[in-house]
Amino acid sequence: MNKGILIIGAGGVGRVVVHKAVQNLDTFKKITLASRTLSRCEQLKKEVNGKIDIDRVDADNVEELIALIEKVKPFMVLNIALPYQDLTVMEACLRTGVHYLDTANYEHPDTAKFEYKEQWAYDERYKKAGIMGLLGSGFDPGVTNVFCAYLQKHYFDEIETIDILDCNAGDHGYPFATNFNPEINLREVSAKGRYWENGEWKETEPLEIKMVWDYPQIGKKDSYLMYHEEMESLVKHIKGLKRIRFFMTFGESYLTHMRCLENVGMLRIDEIEVDGCKVVPLHVLKALLPDPSTLGERTKGKTNIGVVAKGLKDGKKRKVYIYNVCDHQEAFKETGAQAVSYTTGVPAMIGAKLMVEKIWMREGVWNMEQFDPDPFMEELNKQGLPWVIEEL
Ligand code: NDP
Repeated sequence: MNKGILIIGAGGVGRVVVHKAVQNLDTFKKITLASRTLSRCEQLKKEVNGKIDIDRVDADNVEELIALIEKVKPFMVLNIALPYQDLTVMEACLRTGVHYLDTANYEHPDTAKFEYKEQWAYDERYKKAGIMGLLGSGFDPGVTNVFCAYLQKHYFDEIETIDILDCNAGDHGYPFATNFNPEINLREVSAKGRYWENGEWKETEPLEIKMVWDYPQIGKKDSYLMYHEEMESLVKHIKGLKRIRFFMTFGESYLTHMRCLENVGMLRIDEIEVDGCKVVPLHVLKALLPDPSTLGERTKGKTNIGVVAKGLKDGKKRKVYIYNVCDHQEAFKETGAQAVSYTTGVPAMIGAKLMVEKIWMREGVWNMEQFDPDPFMEELNKQGLPWVIEEL
C-alpha cells in the first residue's frame, strides 16, 4: 500500500516534520520534501543521511504542484509552506486525488483575515473525490483542538468555557525577533482581538485585554487576548459552549518594538513606492529581522500551551487544565529547530501518521476536534510532546 508523504515547505516547521517523519520511516516508507528554495531541502536531506527525496516547487502555482504530485505519487501532501498556499495546494490535491493536511488556515496575502470559509468550501468536492483534508494539524490550532475533544470525551458532560493559553517563555537574546515567519506572526498579533460569548463574536482592540496566568514550569506571565483560528471550528463542535477565548504571552520588549513599528507604518501590508521601487513595508521588515530558523541555537527556556475548561460532569462543576511544556534547547538538540517549530511540526507528523494508518480517515474536509482524540493523545506522549492534566 502507498504510504508515501510529500512535504511542501522547508522552513522552521518543515525541518521538524522532516526529522520526525524520518524517525517514523517504518510508517511512511517514502518521504519527499519540496520547497521554493532547493538548497534548504538539500541541507535537510544531508542532515537525515539522505533518507528523503527532494524537489523544487512553487506552491503558488497549481499546475506545478500537480506535476510534482503526479511525479511523486504520494498518499498525501503535508502543506507546511505558508497559509497563502493553502488553497493552491488543496486544489492540486483535489485534482490529483491525494489527501491533504496543513497547520494554519488560509490567509489572503492582501488582507489579514483568518477564517476557514474558503477551505471548508472544498468539503463536498473532497467527499466526491474520495479524499480527506485535515485542517490545522499544528499545536494551536491542532493539539489545542484535540485537547478540547479529549476533555469533552473524558472529563465533561458539557463544557461551558474554554481558555486556550499559549506561553512562549523562550529568550533568544535579540531585542526583537519573531519565533516563526515574521510576516504571519506580526499580522496575527497586530490584528483586533476577538472572543466568542453567548453565541456571538465580541471584538476588542489589538491586545486590549490582559490577564496574568501562572504557567506550570514557567511562572506568572502577562497574557493577552487575541483572535486565534481554532476558535472558529471549536464553537461549532464543542457541545454547550458558552464562551471561548485565546490568550498569548508577550514580553515588554516585543510589545514596545511592535507598537513602535506599527506606529511608523512598518507593519503595513499594502504596497508603497520608495525611490521608484514598489515595496510592502512588512516584507522589508521581514528581510531585516533575524530568520526564525536561525533562532533555535540561541533560544533558551520553555513553551507551555494548554487549555483550561470549566463545565459540568455528573451534575457537578469541574475545572480542568491540560497542557504541554516544551524545552527550546531540547527541541533544538533533536531537530535543529526551537520549540515553536517543534510543537507545530510534531503534531503535523502525527496527523499524517494517523491518516496513513487509516486511524483518522474520512472523506471530506475536517478540523482536528472532529476525530477521536485518544490515538492522537497517545502519539503526543510517544513523539516528544507529553501532556499533563490537572484538576483546578
Ligand atoms: P517559514 O517561513 O520558516 O517556512 C516556510 C517555508 O515555506 C519556507 O521554506 C518557504 O520557502 C516555503 N514557501 C513559502 N512560499 C512558498 C511557495 N510559494 N512555494 C514553495 N515553498 C514556499 O515558516 P514556518 O516554518 O515557521 O511556518 C510554516 C507554517 O506553519 C506556516 O503556515 C505557519 O503559519 C504555520 N504555523 C502553525 C502553527 C500552529 O501551531 N498551528 C505555529 C507556527 C507556525 P523559502 O525557503 O524559499 O522562503
